[in-house]
Amino acid sequence: MAYDVFVVGGGPSGATAAEDLARAGHKVAMLDRAGRIKPCGGAIPPRLIADFAIPSSQIVARIRTARMVSPTGRAVDIPIENGFVGMVDREHFDEFLRLRAAGAGADRLTGTFLRIERDMAGSHVVWRDKAGAEQRSATKIVIGADGARSNVARAEVPGGDKTPYVIAYHEIIKAPATAATLAAANDYDPTRCDVIYDGKISPDFYGWVFPHGAQMSVGMGTGVEGVDLKAATADLRAQAGLTGCETIRREGAPIPLRPMDRWDNGRDVVLAGDAAGVVAPSSGEGIYYAMVGGRVAATAAQAALASGRMRDLALARKLFMKEHKMVFKVLRSMQDAYYKSDERRERFVSLCHDVDVQRLTFEAYMNKKLVAARPMAHIRIGMKNMAHLLRLVSPVWT
Ligand SMILES: Cc1cc2nc3c(=O)[nH]c(=O)nc-3n(C[C@H](O)[C@H](O)[C@H](O)COP(=O)(O)OP(=O)(O)OC[C@H]3O[C@@H](n4cnc5c(N)ncnc54)[C@H](O)[C@@H]3O)c2cc1C
Repeated sequence: MAYDVFVVGGGPSGATAAEDLARAGHKVAMLDRAGRIKPCGGAIPPRLIADFAIPSSQIVARIRTARMVSPTGRAVDIPIENGFVGMVDREHFDEFLRLRAAGAGADRLTGTFLRIERDMAGSHVVWRDKAGAEQRSATKIVIGADGARSNVARAEVPGGDKTPYVIAYHEIIKAPATAATLAAANDYDPTRCDVIYDGKISPDFYGWVFPHGAQMSVGMGTGVEGVDLKAATADLRAQAGLTGCETIRREGAPIPLRPMDRWDNGRDVVLAGDAAGVVAPSSGEGIYYAMVGGRVAATAAQAALASGRMRDLALARKLFMKEHKMVFKVLRSMQDAYYKSDERRERFVSLCHDVDVQRLTFEAYMNKKLVAARPMAHIRIGMKNMAHLLRLVSPVWT
């Protein structure tokens, strides 16, 4: 079978690309090595649920409050107005997306990507099937959606071996349900997610406690070598009174920190999602951006197939950056400014008291737009930001 597009990876980016291409009538394959649940906090914004038609059966918890916790243990509760943050379990969410892609007509293949070979007959993806046999699939275009530390990116796209990462680790635990676990976690709220900014938990990122219905994800990330991720997570669990809850899984994975400068090789490969380094700075949010990445990669592949010009694959990055560059820039400067020391983190959480800050950051998260209609609020926030960074004001607590 010769494909128009061969998608390597069946996570959110690969499954979205495969589905879009199949719906557009192309011959498409989606290869995934089965058997591993992607380690992930599973928080998704309403914009994702709407744009990618996620059914409510996939949403295992609806979060109505975000609690930001400072190094000195002060908490700011931010109500999530006009909606909720959804929580998905990646075990079921990814499979739902893969089944939807297959239902749209994509050939679902199970195995491991090995390499791309090129000869007079064109490009071929070489992969190993479940029985251990090497397979060779002819294709015009390859979409590399094989996640962080992508083999496709490393082998095929300049800079693909240079992406910086933080390592994120979390534990999936049973949510408090018995009298003893509920008593220990007396502050537990199944509709509130906690984000912990504390150098003792993470010296350069943050920790989280996310409810997932019957389960919870508790974890942290860091790019600093030598940090004991398991000890930090044990501390988080102890702080939240969750030590006694049964642990279901312990797992970790890298989160890329910077979108690559190029996502294609100008010939037959384009990257999407984590493989292209696309995760939002500050938050580590990657699912929405992976799905957008899959969609723009599919659009670019269609353009290249229609025109016969493989340089059209560069359209993927252009389309993505046009829409999201500014948000990434703002989030990057926020991370650079505030994730440096506990003093800065204290100021950052204190800044979250501000109703303008709450509205703008949450509007940006929920709807993926920096709201231009509130110029005075932007100016006020900019001034408060400067005042904190220049230490002209002290953290304010109510
Ligand atoms: C601990 C942790 C918590 C996170 N929490 C959140 C969160 O709460 N919200 C959020 O939005 N983001 C979160 N992220 C980030 C998010 O998980 C990723 O950005 C997102 O999964 C990227 O999707 P993707 O499709 O690009 O890659 P992946 O989801 O990594 O999918 C890649 C797919 O490729 C397959 N694959 C890889 N190599 C091969 C190969 N050689 N052959 C065949 N198949 C292969 C894998 O099996 C996998 O299915 C978190 C990440 C981590 C590590």
